[in-house]
Amino acid sequence: MIMKRILFFSVLILIGCTSYAQSPNDPSNLIMRLLGDTPIEEDLQELCDVYGGRVTGTAVNLGSVEWGIKKFEAAGVAVNKEVFNISSLWIDHATIAKVSGTTNFTPKVVAKYYSKPTPNNGLKLPIVDVGYGTEADFARLGDKVKGAFILVEADLCLDVDGLFEEYSNAAMIDARAAEAGAIGVLNMASRPKKLLYRFIASEGADHGLVNLVMAREDAKRCQRILRNGGALDFEVKLDVSNEKESASYNVIAEIKGSERPEEIIIIGAHLDSWGLGTGANDNGCNVAMMIDIARQMKSLNIQPKRTIRFALWNGEEQGYFGSWGYIKSHQNELDKHIMTMSVDIGSGAINGFFTNGRPEMAAITKELMKPVSGLGAKSILDVPIVGTDNFDFMLEGVGNLVASHKPFNYGLNYHAASDTYDKVDVEALKVNSAIVAAVTLGFANLPAEKVTWKRQSHTEVSDLIKQFNLEFSMRMFGVWKDWESGKRGRK
Ligand SMILES: [Zn+2]
Repeated sequence: MIMKRILFFSVLILIGCTSYAQSPNDPSNLIMRLLGDTPIEEDLQELCDVYGGRVTGTAVNLGSVEWGIKKFEAAGVAVNKEVFNISSLWIDHATIAKVSGTTNFTPKVVAKYYSKPTPNNGLKLPIVDVGYGTEADFARLGDKVKGAFILVEADLCLDVDGLFEEYSNAAMIDARAAEAGAIGVLNMASRPKKLLYRFIASEGADHGLVNLVMAREDAKRCQRILRNGGALDFEVKLDVSNEKESASYNVIAEIKGSERPEEIIIIGAHLDSWGLGTGANDNGCNVAMMIDIARQMKSLNIQPKRTIRFALWNGEEQGYFGSWGYIKSHQNELDKHIMTMSVDIGSGAINGFFTNGRPEMAAITKELMKPVSGLGAKSILDVPIVGTDNFDFMLEGVGNLVASHKPFNYGLNYHAASDTYDKVDVEALKVNSAIVAAVTLGFANLPAEKVTWKRQSHTEVSDLIKQFNLEFSMRMFGVWKDWESGKRGRK
């Protein structure tokens, strides 16, 4: 309660008492509401604790879709369940692993999503220590890695920059391992205390290696034994199934525009998560934010000039399938999508927005952040982001924003068993809601002459990708081939 009161007073100071309660469309009313007492915390707790990890393709995920629909309905906001297809669903039923040889023990492991399964009777292969798996390491080891499981060392990674490095290293190491004829990869976990996390294998569904993350302490133990002259085998049985063309659902709620209803603003967060934790910072907190913003807009009877859609995307973790699906089924409306925003970097304080290398949008976003600059949102990073649901909007040339957050505890708990409700900074989440809502409403009510950007052509998107060197990150997340082949993106 004390926290809420402090927020209330500081906002009065920051946005100025005189601007309060002008018209329903005044962002200050909405900001006040979102910082006040709302059910955002209860919603988040229900989603994380009662539903839990919401892996696309599971019954829990389907249950959470119905939960999302009910929340919008209870707020009086029009809502639809929209189907899309996910081309490859990978489900791991069981992973049994053993280390044997100089020592025998059961390591803690988790397979990377899209890892190749083992044959039915499993695999037993020698473990080869490849250090950090650099080119020099592979050159030094030559034929020794052929037919083996390679053990790859990793430094501790506790922040977001480290995550990017981990993904990018993994993509390069996997390529070298495949080239050298290794059968599998054992990635030393980059986080301590036997914490495991789910990564997606580079190359996505086409991944050709048995690829696992091994608890840091277990991997270190193997490494020490091998470096002291011991010999180890890795025995593993990985039971996974692949389903082609499976149906899943986005939840799309909408407040119709009063003057330009055909023009659309979208804000979204993904409902699905991995299953080791309960998808709290990634991304339940921002799902709860979307619901709370819609709820408060409706209860204040805000009538935005443009239509605002609130998206709870699904199938994000597998490669942004939900937002891609939305794009496929709303092709004829895409020219009229003015701004699409993704919020997906946890509950650290929002300090601004990534604006996708679109200077006109960057300037407007900066202007629209003014009412909330006192809440900490000040910076614009005018670069494109690869890695979440803005991605296919970017490939389609649609203007898109991604909220930028202070790292807080995002990196340490990213996709991990520890991504649970107690890791969310609820106070910051509420402030973030106010920031996102103010910018969203600003875009929805922006005078037409200020919307100076248009949907980009194929050539312009292609130039953007080249200008910002996005090929490597697109490869790293397994989405480069889809763009290159014309399967994804503006024709
Ligand atoms: Zn996410």
